[in-house]
Amino acid sequence: MTTTLSSHSATLTGWGRTDPSTAQLCQPTAIEQIQSVVAAASPASLIARGLGRAYGNPAQCAAGTVLELTGLDHIQLDAASGCVTCGAGASLDAVLRVIVPAGFFLPVTPGTRNVTIGGAIAADVHGKNHHGEGSFANHVLWLKLVDGSGQLHQLSPSDPATADAFWATAGGMGLTGVIVEACFRLIPISSSLISVDTTRFRELDGLMAAMVEADTRYRYSVAWVDSLNPAGRGVLTCGDHASREQISNADPLHYDPKAVAGAPSLLPGGLLNTWTVRAFNEAWYRKAPKQRDGELQAISPYFHPLDGVSNWNRIYGPAGFLQYQFAVPDSEAHLVRTTLEALRRIGAPSFLTVLKRFGPSNLGPLSFPMPGWTLAADVSAAVPGLFALLDQLDEQVAEAGGRLYLAKDSRQSATMLERSYPRLDAWRQQRALLDPRGVFSSDLARRVKL
Ligand SMILES: Cc1cc2nc3c(=O)[nH]c(=O)nc-3n(C[C@H](O)[C@H](O)[C@H](O)COP(=O)(O)OP(=O)(O)OC[C@H]3O[C@@H](n4cnc5c(N)ncnc54)[C@H](O)[C@@H]3O)c2cc1C
Repeated sequence: MTTTLSSHSATLTGWGRTDPSTAQLCQPTAIEQIQSVVAAASPASLIARGLGRAYGNPAQCAAGTVLELTGLDHIQLDAASGCVTCGAGASLDAVLRVIVPAGFFLPVTPGTRNVTIGGAIAADVHGKNHHGEGSFANHVLWLKLVDGSGQLHQLSPSDPATADAFWATAGGMGLTGVIVEACFRLIPISSSLISVDTTRFRELDGLMAAMVEADTRYRYSVAWVDSLNPAGRGVLTCGDHASREQISNADPLHYDPKAVAGAPSLLPGGLLNTWTVRAFNEAWYRKAPKQRDGELQAISPYFHPLDGVSNWNRIYGPAGFLQYQFAVPDSEAHLVRTTLEALRRIGAPSFLTVLKRFGPSNLGPLSFPMPGWTLAADVSAAVPGLFALLDQLDEQVAEAGGRLYLAKDSRQSATMLERSYPRLDAWRQQRALLDPRGVFSSDLARRVKL
């Protein structure tokens, strides 16, 4: 028997802590509870939430109801088929604890493991392997969705009857319904270590040329860029899972996510400003070797270096921060430099400035990646002139055929979204089929008119 669902008033933000809003927060533990809440909901009043790691406000619904899914957290590994079935509220952290000791790894992981499976599908997250392996939804076999009428569906990309609904849900930011369960493919590993090649570059052009070359040589690649350095110096780290033969460890699949890399200890203790960011960037650049091949690193320091510091998002102070992340085609690579220069000009210090390569988009009409580049820079929301500058940069990104990532977005306009996501109408059609009463909405959706 299902218990009734209680709710309480809660003020919520995303990871950037900008734009708080208040809603009724429910924490369901059964699918039937979700179905009854949805069936009784009025239009534009409901949104799902995972662990709140999206930067802006997609998991908020001012004056409405937010369904936090973390109570649906079962994880069932099928080692024979190499697939795992999870409740939508299971975190990647919890999944890793089950799958790594059994010899498997996530097909895609974002830069934090504190996200839920529902959040990973709803944002269709990408990792350091997008150039070769695509985004999270590319590896999902099926998902279960409670639609806007409270009906439960199983959607699969390989079933012609449900594929369009599946792809509208992948990257659909919770606006097609509530994902309650999903099954996805894993990759087999024979050790829990990553063999990492690190190279330091004194300027951006050399770094970007090396990244293009790395596309064909490495499964994972990512560059950190010193946002305050006029030449755009940076550190490229490329890697792949180490084989059993490469390691001497008696327990090759040992997994201890608490083992943390150097980034957290270098983080300044107080609030960030240009000086503390400059000191961090200098230390981070110097800490990297000029060139080192085959260093064995554990999963957490390589993939999730900031997860060891709880609430690091508070170092930006009460105004919070945002992440400006765009994707542009290869032909428009110059926008990487233009953006870094523009942010430097207005004195927007960023210690987390990350450059990655992207492969093709998938069938999701709201798929963010495109073959080319993605730059992500964390910036304090209190920097004077920031919002006006970002509006100008948006123009250039849209003009270049690029777009902004909805999971990181706190400020783009409806016009920008309309211009830069060419398959928006196809998404709207599917969304109308899945949620004809328009029950699902969020603060993000209201801003960008999704
Ligand atoms: C430090 C850090 C590093 C990051 N690195 C990356 C990265 O490398 N690559 C990347 O792609 N992203 C990255 N992200 C962003 C993050 O992966 C995504 O925002 C992800 O969606 C967060 O998942 P969540 O469970 O916290 O979802 P929330 O933030 O709670 O919600 C995000 C969206 O998913 C929807 N949603 C959540 N659960 C469900 C559900 N069960 N059903 C339907 N919709 C749902 C919400 O409505 C909302 O629209 C990073 C974030 C942080 C804080």
